[in-house]
Amino acid sequence: MIKLHDKYFKPFISAQEIDAAISKLANEISKDIGDEIPVFIGILNGSFMVVSDFVKKYPKPCEVTFIKLASYEGVKSTEDIQRLIGLTQDLSGRTVVILEDIIDTGNTLHEIHRIFKNEGVKALKIATLFYKPEAYKKDFKIHYKGIEIPKKFIVGYGLDYNGLGRDIPEVYQICTTQKMTNIVLFGPPGAGKGTQAEFLKDKYNLVHISTGDVFRYNIKNETALGTLAKSYMDKGDLVPDEVTIKMLNAEVDRNADAQGFIFDGFPRTNAQAEALDKLMETKDSNINAMIALEVDDEVLVERLLKRGKTSGRPDDANESIIRNRIKEYYTKTAILKDYYSSQDKYFGVDGVGSIQEIAERLSKVIDSL
Ligand code: AMP
Repeated sequence: MIKLHDKYFKPFISAQEIDAAISKLANEISKDIGDEIPVFIGILNGSFMVVSDFVKKYPKPCEVTFIKLASYEGVKSTEDIQRLIGLTQDLSGRTVVILEDIIDTGNTLHEIHRIFKNEGVKALKIATLFYKPEAYKKDFKIHYKGIEIPKKFIVGYGLDYNGLGRDIPEVYQICTTQKMTNIVLFGPPGAGKGTQAEFLKDKYNLVHISTGDVFRYNIKNETALGTLAKSYMDKGDLVPDEVTIKMLNAEVDRNADAQGFIFDGFPRTNAQAEALDKLMETKDSNINAMIALEVDDEVLVERLLKRGKTSGRPDDANESIIRNRIKEYYTKTAILKDYYSSQDKYFGVDGVGSIQEIAERLSKVIDSL
């Protein structure tokens, strides 16, 4: 993802796809024009990249020039009448091909037709690299189209957002959702994830999703999901991925307006981590960091036995279940450290100390992201 001014953009059309589209345009146009020498006219500023690449691929001799449409002074709206600057050459009797980077509503085309009406050209053809069929409102024929795209704002390859982005060799599409902060709070059972998540969600205005809490809620309400999950949870085993991933997706979708999430107890397997990445991608977002609370096993057992006296959780009730949960963590979950480390997203934090001290250590990591 990239940021230009205040907006975020995600990759949309690769440099290779653009290259292939331009080759196709060059071949199509040269076949139609034959041996005549055409005048290719680029409309500045956006077309500078496409024109440069296009003429390099055009297999026969051609002429190239650029024109610019500028608003009359004092007139702000892009809908207003524009005047042409830069057309100095006599084009009478010539075959002219307008090369556009993008045709959107077609307003620019309207001006071009108006201006060229009096130039006495033999033929006026319109070619565009990108074309938005849903946005195009005019009747002028577009003779050659490179790539059809949906009605979304794009930047790159000559196209800008308030002056920025023209230099990017690929095309990016605007992200419709705002940038989120998404944290995976990680660590073995009893590390204090739930306690810290409560504090962080308020401080950073994030939605806290604890898969363990959602399962317990379902058990309490005797739903089908609860009954299924209970058989695994009571033994300290993990609930199957398919069930957990489906539930997590639904929880995220229920919070469509969230500024970000703290995932507590999820992901616990590689399949879950991959599913989470996919889910975040659909939100034009990603996981920013996995922050792990590091606590010794014996401290964990001691903490959980103590919690079991008041929590009422069957999986906190005896030492063998607790040790099985810790074992599940090391055999299935701890490997996720590698998953996030390889993306430079893993941050270990000492999970022993007062709640306040640990909260400060976590905040320091989040503030640095
Ligand atoms: P927790 O409250 O995070 O300690 O989770 C309690 C129990 O819920 C775990 O021991 C698992 O049985 C189940 N559970 C919670 N999250 C997951 C998950 N991401 N994948 C599989 N099982 C989970």
